[in-house]
Amino acid sequence: TLPHLPIFEAISKHDPESVAIVHSSTGQEFRYGKLLQDVVAARNEITQRNEKGAFEGERIAFLMENSYAYVVTILSIFACNAIAVPLSPGFPGSELRYILEQSQAKLIMTSESLRSKAPNKETVEGHATWETRVAKDYGSIRSESGDIELEHLSSNSGGLMLYTSGTTNRPKGVLLPQSAVTAQSQTLLEAWKYSPKDYLLHILPLHHIHGLANAVLTPLFAGSTIEFMSPFSAQTCWERIGAPFTSEGTKKRPITFFTAVPTIYTRLLESHPNLPEDLQQATRRAISPENLRLNISGSAALPTPVKSKWTELSGGNVLLERYGMTEIGMGLSCGLDINDRVDGSVGWPFASVEARLVDTDTKEVIPVGEELGADGKERQGEIQIRGPMVFKEYWRNPEATATEFTTDEDGKGPWFKTGDVAVRRVVESAGKSAQDWAKGPMYFIQGRQSADIIKTGGEKVSALEVEREMLSLPQIAECAVVALPSDAWGQKVAAVVVLTEQGKTAGRGGKAWSALDLRRSLKDRLVNYKIPQEMKVVESIPKNAMGKINKKMLVKEIFPSAT
Ligand code: ATP
Ligand code: MG
Repeated sequence: TLPHLPIFEAISKHDPESVAIVHSSTGQEFRYGKLLQDVVAARNEITQRNEKGAFEGERIAFLMENSYAYVVTILSIFACNAIAVPLSPGFPGSELRYILEQSQAKLIMTSESLRSKAPNKETVEGHATWETRVAKDYGSIRSESGDIELEHLSSNSGGLMLYTSGTTNRPKGVLLPQSAVTAQSQTLLEAWKYSPKDYLLHILPLHHIHGLANAVLTPLFAGSTIEFMSPFSAQTCWERIGAPFTSEGTKKRPITFFTAVPTIYTRLLESHPNLPEDLQQATRRAISPENLRLNISGSAALPTPVKSKWTELSGGNVLLERYGMTEIGMGLSCGLDINDRVDGSVGWPFASVEARLVDTDTKEVIPVGEELGADGKERQGEIQIRGPMVFKEYWRNPEATATEFTTDEDGKGPWFKTGDVAVRRVVESAGKSAQDWAKGPMYFIQGRQSADIIKTGGEKVSALEVEREMLSLPQIAECAVVALPSDAWGQKVAAVVVLTEQGKTAGRGGKAWSALDLRRSLKDRLVNYKIPQEMKVVESIPKNAMGKINKKMLVKEIFPSAT
Protein backbone atom coordinates (compact mmCIF):
# COMPACT_ATOMS: atom_id res chain seq x y z
CA THR A 1 0.00 0.00 0.00
CA LEU A 2 0.91 3.65 -0.41
CA PRO A 3 -0.50 6.71 1.32
CA HIS A 4 -3.30 8.35 -0.58
CA LEU A 5 -1.46 11.27 -2.18
CA PRO A 6 -2.92 12.89 -5.32
CA ILE A 7 0.23 12.14 -7.29
CA PHE A 8 -0.03 8.40 -6.50
CA GLU A 9 -3.70 8.38 -7.34
CA ALA A 10 -3.01 10.06 -10.68
CA ILE A 11 -0.17 7.66 -11.54
CA SER A 12 -2.25 4.61 -10.62
CA LYS A 13 -4.78 5.60 -13.27
CA HIS A 14 -2.35 5.98 -16.18
CA ASP A 15 -2.09 3.35 -18.89
CA PRO A 16 0.41 0.85 -17.39
CA GLU A 17 1.93 0.27 -20.83
CA SER A 18 2.70 3.91 -21.50
CA VAL A 19 6.24 5.07 -20.93
CA ALA A 20 6.93 7.34 -17.95
CA ILE A 21 10.69 7.83 -18.16
CA VAL A 22 13.32 7.42 -20.87
CA HIS A 23 17.08 7.62 -20.41
CA SER A 24 18.24 9.55 -23.42
CA SER A 25 21.78 8.22 -23.55
CA THR A 26 20.80 4.51 -23.54
CA GLY A 27 17.22 4.62 -24.81
CA GLN A 28 16.11 2.57 -21.77
CA GLU A 29 12.38 2.98 -21.05
CA PHE A 30 10.37 2.66 -17.82
CA ARG A 31 6.60 2.23 -17.90
CA TYR A 32 3.92 3.67 -15.67
CA GLY A 33 2.80 0.13 -14.75
CA LYS A 34 6.06 -0.50 -12.89
CA LEU A 35 6.55 2.87 -11.27
CA LEU A 36 4.38 2.57 -8.16
CA GLN A 37 5.61 -1.00 -7.53
CA ASP A 38 9.13 0.33 -7.44
CA VAL A 39 8.07 3.20 -5.20
CA VAL A 40 6.64 0.69 -2.71
CA ALA A 41 9.84 -1.37 -2.79
CA ALA A 42 12.00 1.72 -2.35
CA ARG A 43 9.84 3.00 0.48
CA ASN A 44 10.15 -0.37 2.23
CA GLU A 45 13.92 -0.22 1.78
CA ILE A 46 13.99 3.15 3.51
CA THR A 47 11.73 2.23 6.40
CA GLN A 48 12.81 -1.37 7.03
CA ARG A 49 15.64 -0.36 9.29
CA ASN A 50 13.46 2.08 11.17
CA GLU A 51 10.31 1.66 13.12
CA LYS A 52 7.21 2.42 11.13
CA GLY A 53 6.70 6.11 10.70
CA ALA A 54 10.15 6.94 11.95
CA PHE A 55 10.79 9.28 9.03
CA GLU A 56 7.47 11.06 9.13
CA GLY A 57 8.12 14.78 8.74
CA GLU A 58 11.90 14.17 8.72
CA ARG A 59 14.14 15.38 5.94
CA ILE A 60 15.53 12.74 3.62
CA ALA A 61 18.09 14.14 1.23
CA PHE A 62 19.01 12.40 -1.98
CA LEU A 63 21.84 12.71 -4.43
CA MET A 64 21.15 11.11 -7.78
CA GLU A 65 21.57 11.58 -11.48
CA ASN A 66 18.57 12.69 -13.54
CA SER A 67 17.13 9.22 -14.00
CA TYR A 68 14.32 6.79 -13.30
CA ALA A 69 15.97 6.03 -9.95
CA TYR A 70 15.69 9.72 -9.07
CA VAL A 71 11.94 9.65 -9.74
CA VAL A 72 11.43 6.43 -7.75
CA THR A 73 13.42 7.87 -4.86
CA ILE A 74 11.62 11.19 -4.56
CA LEU A 75 8.24 9.45 -4.74
CA SER A 76 9.34 6.91 -2.14
CA ILE A 77 10.28 9.75 0.21
CA PHE A 78 6.82 11.21 -0.33
CA ALA A 79 5.47 7.75 0.47
CA CYS A 80 7.25 7.88 3.85
CA ASN A 81 5.44 11.15 4.64
CA ALA A 82 8.92 12.58 4.84
CA ILE A 83 10.33 15.77 3.35
CA ALA A 84 12.37 15.22 0.21
CA VAL A 85 15.52 17.34 -0.11
CA PRO A 86 17.01 17.00 -3.60
CA LEU A 87 20.76 17.58 -3.82
CA SER A 88 22.60 18.35 -7.01
CA PRO A 89 25.51 16.21 -8.23
CA GLY A 90 26.90 19.52 -9.48
CA PHE A 91 27.23 20.96 -5.97
CA PRO A 92 30.72 21.25 -4.52
CA GLY A 93 31.20 19.36 -1.25
CA SER A 94 30.84 22.53 0.83
CA GLU A 95 27.39 23.21 -0.65
CA LEU A 96 26.26 19.63 -0.06
CA ARG A 97 27.36 19.88 3.56
CA TYR A 98 25.63 23.23 4.01
CA ILE A 99 22.31 21.83 2.83
CA LEU A 100 22.64 18.58 4.79
CA GLU A 101 23.36 20.50 7.97
CA GLN A 102 20.83 23.26 7.37
CA SER A 103 18.05 20.82 6.58
CA GLN A 104 19.04 18.48 9.45
CA ALA A 105 18.66 15.53 7.13
CA LYS A 106 18.34 12.13 8.81
CA LEU A 107 19.29 10.16 5.75
CA ILE A 108 20.89 10.62 2.32
CA MET A 109 20.01 8.26 -0.45
CA THR A 110 22.57 8.11 -3.24
CA SER A 111 23.16 6.14 -6.39
CA GLU A 112 26.13 3.77 -6.49
CA SER A 113 28.09 6.12 -8.73
CA LEU A 114 27.54 9.18 -6.53
CA ARG A 115 28.21 7.39 -3.23
CA SER A 116 31.71 8.85 -2.94
CA LYS A 117 30.38 12.39 -3.42
CA ALA A 118 28.01 12.19 -0.47
CA PRO A 119 29.74 13.79 2.52
CA ASN A 120 30.26 11.46 5.44
CA LYS A 121 28.87 12.71 8.66
CA GLU A 122 32.20 12.11 10.37
CA THR A 123 33.83 14.75 8.21
CA VAL A 124 31.37 17.40 9.24
CA GLU A 125 31.54 19.60 12.25
CA GLY A 126 28.47 20.53 14.19
CA HIS A 127 25.62 18.17 14.96
CA ALA A 128 24.99 16.50 11.65
CA THR A 129 23.60 13.05 12.18
CA TRP A 130 22.69 11.66 8.83
CA GLU A 131 23.22 8.17 7.56
CA THR A 132 24.16 7.51 3.94
CA ARG A 133 22.59 4.65 2.02
CA VAL A 134 22.94 3.54 -1.57
CA ALA A 135 19.57 3.06 -3.23
CA LYS A 136 18.92 -0.13 -5.17
CA ASP A 137 18.92 0.34 -8.88
CA TYR A 138 15.21 -0.04 -9.50
CA GLY A 139 15.88 0.43 -13.18
CA SER A 140 17.30 -3.08 -13.45
CA ILE A 141 15.17 -4.93 -10.91
CA ARG A 142 12.13 -6.77 -12.21
CA SER A 143 9.27 -5.98 -9.96
CA GLU A 144 5.83 -7.53 -10.04
CA SER A 145 3.14 -5.51 -11.64
CA GLY A 146 -0.28 -5.32 -10.11
CA ASP A 147 -2.55 -2.94 -8.31
CA ILE A 148 -1.31 -0.87 -5.43
CA GLU A 149 -3.77 0.02 -2.75
CA LEU A 150 -3.89 3.62 -1.62
CA GLU A 151 -4.58 3.89 2.06
CA HIS A 152 -5.94 6.80 4.01
CA LEU A 153 -3.23 9.36 4.69
CA SER A 154 -2.75 9.54 8.42
CA SER A 155 -0.52 12.60 8.50
CA ASN A 156 0.21 15.58 6.36
CA SER A 157 3.79 16.09 7.41
CA GLY A 158 5.51 15.23 4.15
CA GLY A 159 6.56 17.42 1.27
CA LEU A 160 9.46 18.93 -0.51
CA MET A 161 12.26 21.18 0.59
CA LEU A 162 13.99 23.06 -2.18
CA TYR A 163 16.85 25.47 -1.76
CA THR A 164 16.59 28.74 -3.69
CA SER A 165 19.07 29.35 -6.49
CA GLY A 166 21.28 31.47 -4.26
CA THR A 167 21.31 34.35 -6.72
CA THR A 168 21.17 37.06 -4.06
CA ASN A 169 22.41 35.27 -0.97
CA ARG A 170 23.05 31.83 0.49
CA PRO A 171 20.34 29.42 -0.68
CA LYS A 172 17.35 29.36 1.63
CA GLY A 173 15.48 26.14 2.45
CA VAL A 174 11.90 26.52 1.25
CA LEU A 175 9.43 24.11 2.80
CA LEU A 176 6.65 23.16 0.41
CA PRO A 177 4.05 20.94 2.05
CA GLN A 178 2.62 18.13 -0.08
CA SER A 179 -0.53 20.23 -0.55
CA ALA A 180 1.49 23.05 -2.13
CA VAL A 181 3.27 20.63 -4.46
CA THR A 182 -0.08 19.22 -5.55
CA ALA A 183 -1.68 22.64 -5.99
CA GLN A 184 1.24 23.70 -8.12
CA SER A 185 0.86 20.74 -10.45
CA GLN A 186 -2.89 21.10 -10.72
CA THR A 187 -2.51 24.75 -11.69
CA LEU A 188 -0.01 23.94 -14.41
CA LEU A 189 -2.05 21.01 -15.73
CA GLU A 190 -4.98 23.27 -16.27
CA ALA A 191 -3.06 26.16 -17.79
CA TRP A 192 -0.59 24.33 -20.02
CA LYS A 193 -2.71 21.26 -20.79
CA TYR A 194 -0.11 18.53 -20.24
CA SER A 195 -1.45 15.24 -21.60
CA PRO A 196 -0.47 11.57 -21.94
CA LYS A 197 0.45 12.41 -25.53
CA ASP A 198 3.10 14.88 -24.41
CA TYR A 199 6.72 13.89 -24.81
CA LEU A 200 9.07 16.09 -22.83
CA LEU A 201 12.79 16.43 -23.39
CA HIS A 202 14.24 17.20 -19.96
CA ILE A 203 17.56 19.05 -19.77
CA LEU A 204 17.30 20.98 -16.47
CA PRO A 205 18.78 20.40 -13.02
CA LEU A 206 16.39 18.55 -10.72
CA HIS A 207 17.02 20.42 -7.47
CA HIS A 208 15.06 23.53 -8.46
CA ILE A 209 11.36 24.09 -8.92
CA HIS A 210 11.54 24.57 -12.70
CA GLY A 211 13.13 21.22 -13.53
CA LEU A 212 11.31 19.31 -10.80
CA ALA A 213 7.74 20.62 -10.52
CA ASN A 214 7.15 21.83 -14.07
CA ALA A 215 9.10 19.15 -15.86
CA VAL A 216 8.81 16.01 -13.70
CA LEU A 217 6.04 16.04 -11.10
CA THR A 218 3.42 17.71 -13.30
CA PRO A 219 4.08 15.48 -16.32
CA LEU A 220 3.83 12.46 -13.99
CA PHE A 221 0.43 13.73 -12.87
CA ALA A 222 -0.61 13.93 -16.52
CA GLY A 223 0.82 10.62 -17.70
CA SER A 224 3.24 12.29 -20.11
CA THR A 225 6.62 10.82 -21.07
CA ILE A 226 9.82 12.43 -19.76
CA GLU A 227 13.13 11.82 -21.50
CA PHE A 228 16.11 12.74 -19.30
CA MET A 229 19.14 14.15 -21.04
CA SER A 230 21.97 15.37 -18.86
CA PRO A 231 24.40 16.98 -18.79
CA PHE A 232 23.13 19.47 -21.35
CA SER A 233 25.02 19.91 -24.57
CA ALA A 234 23.52 21.97 -27.37
CA GLN A 235 24.79 19.58 -30.03
CA THR A 236 23.36 16.42 -28.42
CA CYS A 237 20.14 18.22 -27.66
CA TRP A 238 19.69 19.27 -31.29
CA GLU A 239 20.54 15.76 -32.48
CA ARG A 240 17.81 14.29 -30.29
CA ILE A 241 15.26 16.95 -31.19
CA GLY A 242 15.90 16.49 -34.89
CA ALA A 243 16.20 12.67 -34.86
CA PRO A 244 12.57 11.82 -35.74
CA PHE A 245 12.73 14.16 -38.75
CA THR A 246 16.00 13.16 -40.40
CA SER A 247 15.96 11.23 -43.66
CA GLU A 248 17.42 8.07 -42.06
CA GLY A 249 14.29 7.82 -39.97
CA THR A 250 14.38 6.67 -36.36
CA LYS A 251 11.98 5.22 -33.85
CA LYS A 252 12.55 8.14 -31.51
CA ARG A 253 9.42 10.08 -30.68
CA PRO A 254 9.03 13.76 -31.57
CA ILE A 255 9.38 16.21 -28.68
CA THR A 256 6.09 18.01 -27.96
CA PHE A 257 7.03 19.87 -24.79
CA PHE A 258 10.25 21.68 -23.94
CA THR A 259 10.96 23.99 -21.03
CA ALA A 260 14.28 25.72 -20.35
CA VAL A 261 16.01 28.81 -19.03
CA PRO A 262 16.94 31.67 -21.40
CA THR A 263 20.65 30.75 -21.46
CA ILE A 264 19.77 27.30 -22.81
CA TYR A 265 17.79 28.83 -25.67
CA THR A 266 20.72 31.16 -26.32
CA ARG A 267 23.13 28.24 -26.56
CA LEU A 268 20.80 26.29 -28.82
CA LEU A 269 20.45 29.28 -31.13
CA GLU A 270 24.21 29.85 -31.20
CA SER A 271 25.03 26.28 -32.10
CA HIS A 272 22.30 25.81 -34.71
CA PRO A 273 24.20 27.26 -37.70
CA ASN A 274 27.07 24.81 -37.03
CA LEU A 275 24.89 21.72 -37.44
CA PRO A 276 25.08 19.69 -40.66
CA GLU A 277 22.65 21.03 -43.27
CA ASP A 278 20.20 18.11 -43.06
CA LEU A 279 20.08 18.30 -39.25
CA GLN A 280 19.40 22.03 -39.47
CA GLN A 281 16.37 21.26 -41.59
CA ALA A 282 15.20 18.39 -39.42
CA THR A 283 15.45 20.42 -36.22
CA ARG A 284 13.58 23.36 -37.72
CA ARG A 285 10.74 21.03 -38.56
CA ALA A 286 10.94 19.45 -35.11
CA ILE A 287 10.51 22.78 -33.30
CA SER A 288 7.81 24.13 -35.60
CA PRO A 289 4.44 24.86 -33.97
CA GLU A 290 3.00 21.74 -35.66
CA ASN A 291 5.40 19.41 -33.86
CA LEU A 292 6.62 21.13 -30.69
CA ARG A 293 3.35 21.90 -28.94
CA LEU A 294 4.83 24.08 -26.22
CA ASN A 295 8.22 25.72 -25.69
CA ILE A 296 8.52 27.55 -22.41
CA SER A 297 11.12 29.90 -20.94
CA GLY A 298 11.50 30.98 -17.34
CA SER A 299 13.69 31.36 -14.22
CA ALA A 300 15.20 34.57 -15.59
CA ALA A 301 14.13 37.31 -17.98
CA LEU A 302 13.93 36.17 -21.59
CA PRO A 303 15.83 38.61 -23.81
CA THR A 304 13.58 39.74 -26.68
CA PRO A 305 16.21 38.99 -29.37
CA VAL A 306 16.44 35.38 -28.15
CA LYS A 307 12.68 35.09 -28.34
CA SER A 308 12.45 36.54 -31.83
CA LYS A 309 15.34 34.43 -33.14
CA TRP A 310 13.60 31.31 -31.84
CA THR A 311 10.35 32.37 -33.47
CA GLU A 312 12.17 32.80 -36.75
CA LEU A 313 14.10 29.53 -36.57
CA SER A 314 10.99 27.54 -35.69
CA GLY A 315 8.74 29.13 -38.27
CA GLY A 316 6.48 30.85 -35.79
CA ASN A 317 6.76 28.94 -32.52
CA VAL A 318 6.77 31.83 -30.04
CA LEU A 319 8.37 31.05 -26.66
CA LEU A 320 5.91 31.16 -23.78
CA GLU A 321 7.40 33.09 -20.86
CA ARG A 322 6.33 32.52 -17.28
CA TYR A 323 7.40 33.79 -13.88
CA GLY A 324 7.92 31.77 -10.75
CA MET A 325 10.10 31.25 -7.75
CA THR A 326 10.92 28.50 -5.29
CA GLU A 327 8.64 30.01 -2.66
CA ILE A 328 5.52 30.31 -4.81
CA GLY A 329 6.07 27.83 -7.59
CA MET A 330 4.74 29.25 -10.83
CA GLY A 331 2.83 32.50 -10.36
CA LEU A 332 2.31 34.22 -13.69
CA SER A 333 2.29 32.96 -17.23
CA CYS A 334 1.62 33.98 -20.77
CA GLY A 335 -1.14 32.01 -22.46
CA LEU A 336 -1.30 29.07 -24.83
CA ASP A 337 -2.68 31.24 -27.63
CA ILE A 338 0.23 32.62 -29.68
CA ASN A 339 -1.22 36.13 -29.36
CA ASP A 340 -0.97 35.81 -25.59
CA ARG A 341 2.83 35.56 -25.65
CA VAL A 342 3.75 39.21 -25.60
CA ASP A 343 7.40 40.37 -25.74
CA GLY A 344 8.80 41.25 -22.32
CA SER A 345 5.68 40.10 -20.47
CA VAL A 346 5.18 37.19 -18.10
CA GLY A 347 1.45 37.31 -18.65
CA TRP A 348 -1.24 36.96 -16.01
CA PRO A 349 -1.64 35.23 -12.63
CA PHE A 350 -2.68 31.57 -13.02
CA ALA A 351 -6.30 30.81 -12.18
CA SER A 352 -5.53 29.62 -8.65
CA VAL A 353 -3.00 32.37 -7.91
CA GLU A 354 -3.90 35.70 -6.38
CA ALA A 355 -1.41 38.40 -7.36
CA ARG A 356 -1.22 42.09 -6.61
CA LEU A 357 1.20 44.95 -7.10
CA VAL A 358 2.16 47.09 -4.14
CA ASP A 359 3.47 50.51 -5.16
CA THR A 360 7.17 50.62 -4.26
CA ASP A 361 6.91 54.31 -3.31
CA THR A 362 3.54 54.75 -1.63
CA LYS A 363 3.23 51.12 -0.40
CA GLU A 364 -0.38 51.17 -1.59
CA VAL A 365 -1.95 48.33 -3.54
CA ILE A 366 -2.22 49.40 -7.19
CA PRO A 367 -5.79 48.66 -8.27
CA VAL A 368 -6.35 47.11 -11.69
CA GLY A 369 -7.19 49.99 -14.01
CA GLU A 370 -4.90 52.42 -12.20
CA GLU A 371 -1.66 51.34 -13.77
CA LEU A 372 -0.55 54.92 -14.42
CA GLY A 373 0.35 57.40 -11.70
CA ALA A 374 -0.75 61.06 -11.54
CA ASP A 375 2.40 61.96 -13.49
CA GLY A 376 1.31 59.67 -16.33
CA LYS A 377 4.17 57.23 -15.64
CA GLU A 378 3.68 53.51 -15.10
CA ARG A 379 3.49 52.64 -11.42
CA GLN A 380 6.08 50.11 -10.30
CA GLY A 381 4.97 47.68 -7.69
CA GLU A 382 6.29 44.70 -5.79
CA ILE A 383 4.55 41.48 -6.81
CA GLN A 384 2.79 39.87 -3.87
CA ILE A 385 1.27 36.42 -4.12
CA ARG A 386 -1.26 34.36 -2.26
CA GLY A 387 -2.62 30.90 -2.98
CA PRO A 388 -2.48 27.19 -2.16
CA MET A 389 0.90 26.69 -3.83
CA VAL A 390 2.77 29.17 -1.63
CA PHE A 391 5.40 27.71 0.70
CA LYS A 392 4.95 27.36 4.43
CA GLU A 393 8.21 28.65 5.83
CA TYR A 394 11.91 29.18 5.33
CA TRP A 395 13.40 26.21 7.10
CA ARG A 396 14.85 27.14 10.48
CA ASN A 397 14.68 30.80 9.59
CA PRO A 398 11.59 32.25 11.29
CA GLU A 399 12.95 35.80 10.97
CA ALA A 400 13.03 35.59 7.18
CA THR A 401 9.62 33.91 7.12
CA ALA A 402 8.16 36.69 9.24
CA THR A 403 9.56 39.55 7.18
CA GLU A 404 8.65 38.06 3.80
CA PHE A 405 4.93 37.74 4.54
CA THR A 406 2.45 40.55 5.15
CA THR A 407 0.04 40.42 8.05
CA ASP A 408 -3.36 38.91 7.32
CA GLU A 409 -5.23 42.06 6.31
CA ASP A 410 -8.55 40.65 5.20
CA GLY A 411 -8.87 37.30 6.92
CA LYS A 412 -7.93 35.50 3.71
CA GLY A 413 -4.32 34.95 4.69
CA PRO A 414 -1.04 36.83 4.41
CA TRP A 415 0.62 37.69 1.11
CA PHE A 416 4.12 36.60 0.20
CA LYS A 417 6.38 39.49 -0.79
CA THR A 418 8.35 38.26 -3.78
CA GLY A 419 10.87 41.11 -3.83
CA ASP A 420 10.35 41.32 -7.59
CA VAL A 421 9.07 44.51 -9.17
CA ALA A 422 6.68 44.72 -12.11
CA VAL A 423 4.43 47.10 -13.98
CA ARG A 424 1.10 46.18 -15.55
CA ARG A 425 0.08 47.18 -19.04
CA VAL A 426 -3.07 46.63 -21.02
CA VAL A 427 -2.13 44.85 -24.25
CA GLU A 428 -4.95 45.19 -26.74
CA SER A 429 -3.99 42.25 -28.93
CA ALA A 430 -3.74 39.78 -26.03
CA GLY A 431 -6.17 38.20 -23.58
CA LYS A 432 -8.83 37.21 -26.06
CA SER A 433 -8.16 33.49 -25.90
CA ALA A 434 -10.39 30.83 -24.43
CA GLN A 435 -8.18 30.60 -21.34
CA ASP A 436 -10.25 32.50 -18.86
CA TRP A 437 -7.40 33.36 -16.48
CA ALA A 438 -5.50 35.08 -19.30
CA LYS A 439 -7.38 38.36 -19.13
CA GLY A 440 -6.85 41.95 -18.00
CA PRO A 441 -3.60 43.92 -17.95
CA MET A 442 -0.39 41.93 -18.37
CA TYR A 443 2.57 41.90 -15.98
CA PHE A 444 6.00 43.06 -17.11
CA ILE A 445 8.84 42.20 -14.71
CA GLN A 446 11.25 45.06 -14.00
CA GLY A 447 13.60 42.98 -11.87
CA ARG A 448 14.54 42.38 -8.28
CA GLN A 449 13.95 45.25 -5.94
CA SER A 450 17.30 44.57 -4.27
CA ALA A 451 19.47 44.38 -7.38
CA ASP A 452 17.69 45.47 -10.56
CA ILE A 453 15.85 48.65 -9.66
CA ILE A 454 18.40 51.44 -9.92
CA LYS A 455 17.57 54.80 -8.41
CA THR A 456 19.39 57.56 -10.21
CA GLY A 457 18.69 61.27 -9.78
CA GLY A 458 15.19 60.57 -8.48
CA GLU A 459 14.32 58.28 -11.40
CA LYS A 460 13.90 54.52 -11.25
CA VAL A 461 15.59 52.44 -13.91
CA SER A 462 14.85 48.77 -14.52
CA ALA A 463 18.11 46.93 -15.19
CA LEU A 464 16.09 44.36 -17.11
CA GLU A 465 14.76 46.96 -19.51
CA VAL A 466 18.23 48.33 -20.22
CA GLU A 467 19.63 44.82 -20.65
CA ARG A 468 16.89 44.03 -23.13
CA GLU A 469 17.80 47.04 -25.27
CA MET A 470 21.51 46.32 -25.03
CA LEU A 471 21.06 42.72 -26.09
CA SER A 472 19.36 43.79 -29.26
CA LEU A 473 22.61 45.46 -30.37
CA PRO A 474 24.71 43.22 -32.64
CA GLN A 475 27.90 44.16 -30.78
CA ILE A 476 26.73 42.70 -27.45
CA ALA A 477 26.60 38.99 -26.70
CA GLU A 478 25.80 39.13 -22.97
CA CYS A 479 25.34 41.86 -20.45
CA ALA A 480 24.45 42.68 -16.88
CA VAL A 481 23.27 46.13 -15.86
CA VAL A 482 24.09 47.12 -12.29
CA ALA A 483 23.90 50.07 -9.93
CA LEU A 484 27.04 51.83 -8.74
CA PRO A 485 27.04 54.40 -5.95
CA SER A 486 27.27 57.98 -7.19
CA ASP A 487 27.74 61.19 -5.22
CA ALA A 488 25.81 63.22 -7.75
CA TRP A 489 22.94 60.82 -8.49
CA GLY A 490 22.65 58.50 -5.54
CA GLN A 491 23.20 55.59 -7.90
CA LYS A 492 24.33 55.42 -11.48
CA VAL A 493 23.71 52.86 -14.18
CA ALA A 494 26.68 50.72 -15.22
CA ALA A 495 27.04 47.72 -17.49
CA VAL A 496 29.22 44.65 -17.71
CA VAL A 497 29.31 43.26 -21.23
CA VAL A 498 30.64 40.40 -23.30
CA LEU A 499 31.20 41.56 -26.86
CA THR A 500 30.33 39.57 -29.96
CA GLU A 501 33.02 38.96 -32.60
CA GLN A 502 31.62 41.95 -34.42
CA GLY A 503 31.75 44.05 -31.25
CA LYS A 504 35.44 43.28 -30.75
CA THR A 505 36.35 45.32 -33.83
CA ALA A 506 33.37 47.65 -34.05
CA GLY A 507 35.01 50.61 -32.31
CA ARG A 508 37.01 53.42 -33.81
CA GLY A 509 39.89 52.30 -36.02
CA GLY A 510 38.90 48.66 -35.67
CA LYS A 511 39.27 48.70 -31.90
CA ALA A 512 36.89 47.07 -29.50
CA TRP A 513 33.59 48.73 -28.81
CA SER A 514 33.69 51.28 -25.98
CA ALA A 515 31.38 52.89 -23.45
CA LEU A 516 31.08 55.84 -25.80
CA ASP A 517 29.95 53.60 -28.65
CA LEU A 518 27.40 52.02 -26.36
CA ARG A 519 26.01 55.38 -25.29
CA ARG A 520 25.70 56.47 -28.91
CA SER A 521 23.90 53.27 -29.91
CA LEU A 522 21.40 53.52 -27.09
CA LYS A 523 20.57 57.19 -27.65
CA ASP A 524 17.54 56.49 -29.81
CA ARG A 525 16.37 53.59 -27.70
CA LEU A 526 16.45 54.81 -24.11
CA VAL A 527 16.08 58.11 -22.32
CA ASN A 528 19.36 59.57 -21.21
CA TYR A 529 19.28 58.63 -17.52
CA LYS A 530 18.75 54.96 -18.35
CA ILE A 531 21.86 54.71 -20.52
CA PRO A 532 24.84 53.16 -18.70
CA GLN A 533 27.45 55.74 -17.73
CA GLU A 534 30.13 53.12 -17.33
CA MET A 535 30.85 49.93 -19.21
CA LYS A 536 33.34 47.15 -18.51
CA VAL A 537 34.10 44.53 -21.11
CA VAL A 538 34.73 41.01 -19.80
CA GLU A 539 35.34 37.57 -21.35
CA SER A 540 32.36 35.99 -19.58
CA ILE A 541 29.80 36.77 -16.88
CA PRO A 542 29.58 34.17 -14.09
CA LYS A 543 26.15 32.52 -13.77
CA ASN A 544 24.69 29.89 -11.46
CA ALA A 545 23.10 26.55 -12.44
CA MET A 546 19.90 28.29 -13.51
CA GLY A 547 21.75 30.80 -15.69
CA LYS A 548 21.34 33.65 -13.23
CA ILE A 549 23.76 36.41 -12.29
CA ASN A 550 24.57 37.42 -8.71
CA LYS A 551 24.83 41.16 -9.27
CA LYS A 552 26.16 42.01 -5.83
CA MET A 553 29.11 39.70 -6.37
CA LEU A 554 29.56 40.89 -9.93
CA VAL A 555 29.85 44.53 -8.82
CA LYS A 556 32.38 43.58 -6.14
CA GLU A 557 34.46 41.75 -8.68
CA ILE A 558 34.24 44.12 -11.64
CA PHE A 559 33.99 47.49 -9.92
CA PRO A 560 35.93 46.86 -6.68
CA SER A 561 36.56 50.54 -5.99
CA ALA A 562 32.84 51.31 -6.12
CA THR A 563 31.96 49.28 -3.05
P1 ATP B 1 17.84 33.44 -4.09
O1 ATP B 1 16.43 33.60 -3.60
O2 ATP B 1 18.59 32.39 -3.37
O3 ATP B 1 18.57 34.72 -4.22
P2 ATP B 1 16.65 33.05 -6.71
O4 ATP B 1 15.68 34.09 -6.28
O5 ATP B 1 17.29 33.23 -8.05
O6 ATP B 1 17.79 32.87 -5.61
P3 ATP B 1 14.70 31.08 -7.45
O7 ATP B 1 13.61 30.90 -6.48
O8 ATP B 1 15.17 29.90 -8.19
O9 ATP B 1 15.94 31.62 -6.67
O10 ATP B 1 14.33 32.15 -8.54
C1 ATP B 1 13.24 33.02 -8.44
C2 ATP B 1 13.57 34.36 -9.06
O11 ATP B 1 13.88 34.22 -10.45
C3 ATP B 1 12.40 35.32 -9.02
O12 ATP B 1 12.29 35.95 -7.77
C4 ATP B 1 12.74 36.27 -10.16
O13 ATP B 1 13.62 37.30 -9.72
C5 ATP B 1 13.47 35.39 -11.16
N1 ATP B 1 12.59 35.02 -12.29
C6 ATP B 1 11.92 33.87 -12.48
N2 ATP B 1 11.26 33.88 -13.64
C7 ATP B 1 11.50 35.08 -14.22
C8 ATP B 1 11.11 35.71 -15.45
N3 ATP B 1 10.33 35.10 -16.34
N4 ATP B 1 11.57 36.97 -15.69
C9 ATP B 1 12.37 37.60 -14.81
N5 ATP B 1 12.78 37.05 -13.65
C10 ATP B 1 12.36 35.81 -13.35
MG1 MG C 1 14.76 34.46 -4.39
